[in-house]
Amino acid sequence: MFELITKDNDARRGRLKLFHGTVETPVFMPVATRGAIRALPGSALDEIGFEIILANTYHLYIRPGVDVLDAAGGLHKFMNCKLPVLTDSGGFQVFSLSDLCKVREDGAEFRSHLDGSKHLFTPRSVLDVQRSIGSDIMMVLDQCVEYPADHSYAREACERTIRWAGEAIDYYRESFDRERQKIFAIVQGSTYPDLRKDCAKRLADLDFPGYAIGGLSVGEPKDLYNEMSEITTAELPEDKPRYMMGVGSPLEIIESVSHGIDMFDCVMPTRIARNGTLYTSQGRINIRNSQYEKDFTPLDPECDCYVCRNFSKSYLRHIFRVGEISALIYNTYHNLSYMKKLMLRVRSSIENGTFEELRREIHSYYGRP
Ligand SMILES: [Zn+2]
Repeated sequence: MFELITKDNDARRGRLKLFHGTVETPVFMPVATRGAIRALPGSALDEIGFEIILANTYHLYIRPGVDVLDAAGGLHKFMNCKLPVLTDSGGFQVFSLSDLCKVREDGAEFRSHLDGSKHLFTPRSVLDVQRSIGSDIMMVLDQCVEYPADHSYAREACERTIRWAGEAIDYYRESFDRERQKIFAIVQGSTYPDLRKDCAKRLADLDFPGYAIGGLSVGEPKDLYNEMSEITTAELPEDKPRYMMGVGSPLEIIESVSHGIDMFDCVMPTRIARNGTLYTSQGRINIRNSQYEKDFTPLDPECDCYVCRNFSKSYLRHIFRVGEISALIYNTYHNLSYMKKLMLRVRSSIENGTFEELRREIHSYYGRP
């Protein structure tokens, strides 16, 4: 499924072969939590040229529900998406969204954030939901801990995560179409090097098709994030894809790629776009700023996306200020175009052996890690 094409130091250039298509890595996956990318029409996904998107098991399970997904023939048909889809298991949402979440040995009991109804996610049941969704890549149920967490609590969550992963891979091997759907394990361990290493090693022994790093970028200081990313990645098998969950600012991506991560997802580029913050080749700008009132130059002169080819900063500032919906659409469109182009540059720099140059350039616009 995964081909490692070339490396530049630890940065990896690879290729993922999935049921709905081939994905070049490193890759950024835009987030369609509930089956839609906020403020972005489906046609824009094709125009920008994304290769894979992310959706969320918890949210799709709550609404529209497994019945509707089954009747529709899966998420691909439901949202008319031809791209590969990766789904998060919902573990993170259960632990963070549900005010009444009870961890049991066999799974996580929770109440819907919507109507308070009671549900149970087990290592098997989240795979069943992801079968109904039709995900190209499914994630195992894991137990996330908040930051900071004490060592014994983090260790307990780690042990549970490893045990659940064992149940998940057994169930996957006995009852899933392995060509159609892949499954990734998730490394936890909070900010403790011993737990991260132990968790990564023991999950690697279970021989999953791919590995994710979870529980980072949850409020820990940047140096701890970088340390954990590096320590965990070093323990993961070289020939399997590596996915850093929920991480995706240009700076975090460039640093994680330098540690050998292949896949990313994050709501940040779309979320900040809706607040008027835009990524450009000269760093972040906020389009609301008065300095753009009569600035009739393109948003980013080095970007050739639809928005940058057609509209000035002055116009984009105006429509944002008066609350036009198209402002949110254009800002989202540009930020995702920026992410797509950044990943293209990351890939070609690894191929050319110039990744460190690109890394320094990103540092100069987005700050040092
Ligand atoms: Zn643009």
